[in-house]
Amino acid sequence: MKRIHTDICPVCGSNELVPYLSCKDYLTTQEVFDIYQCKTCGFALTQDFPAEDEIGPYYDAPEYISHSDTHRGIINTLYHWARKMALKSKSKIVGRYASKRTGMLLDIGSGTGYFLNKMKEEKWIVTGIEKSEFARKYAKQKFDIDCQSSDYLYKVCEKTKDVITMWHVLEHMEHLNRVMGHLSATLKDDGVVIIALPNKSSFDAAHYKEHWAAYDVPRHLWHFSPSDFGRLAKKHHFELVDVKPMYFDAFYISMLSEKSKGTFLATIVGLAKGGIFFLRTLADKKRSSSLIYILKKNNKK
Ligand SMILES: [Zn+2]
Repeated sequence: MKRIHTDICPVCGSNELVPYLSCKDYLTTQEVFDIYQCKTCGFALTQDFPAEDEIGPYYDAPEYISHSDTHRGIINTLYHWARKMALKSKSKIVGRYASKRTGMLLDIGSGTGYFLNKMKEEKWIVTGIEKSEFARKYAKQKFDIDCQSSDYLYKVCEKTKDVITMWHVLEHMEHLNRVMGHLSATLKDDGVVIIALPNKSSFDAAHYKEHWAAYDVPRHLWHFSPSDFGRLAKKHHFELVDVKPMYFDAFYISMLSEKSKGTFLATIVGLAKGGIFFLRTLADKKRSSSLIYILKKNNKK
């Protein structure tokens, strides 16, 4: 199997990458993957992850619910309720930070199309990019939205998008710097990029360590803290305009983490701990389980 070994930190360029944690793929294979950390800047990455054309089987689990619509089980039920709430808050964020009321919106990793549909209802002209054929068909059937496959990203014309969104997607993409470069190229000068990522300096990450569900190896390749992401954004001539917490993720990630640990009554324990992390986050937002980064082009060259 082709594995991608990283010697150079994609954020700062240092070659001092050292072992940080060993995590298990709880979802599919139970294989162990190492997470390495950059000694210079602190950024962390999954070492020796499967290459893009071979990682498919690692996504092959019914639990990977971002691409499906099952309603069984308490975790899924909560997930679907939380998704509804999250859709509302995502569209509110677009409304608040976009420089226009409507325009061209690109959602990368659009999944089954719920967010695109919400934005279409709000009169945005939407385009989705989604690598799963199943999800693309779903979006077409349910919402009549045509989504493109992955290579479309590199075909989007320069400076044509008012808003580009990536909801928990960038951490899955092999070519981190290439993708960031393309975001910058395709965005209009007054456009906005909105990126949601798990936060490796969250309260829940500190608590669960190698059991933290949002390490999600080998599907999550890159593990950011707010300062890591700020550095990457700056490198690609973006200005970090704002950082917003995603409050619900603490509950979901804590439940999954407890499940991975094999805790008795994992869902209840996870919910309770998620509640504590949520409350602590109210006082320290940058330690939220997931964060939404709002980027604008730094046009002063
Ligand atoms: Zn580094």
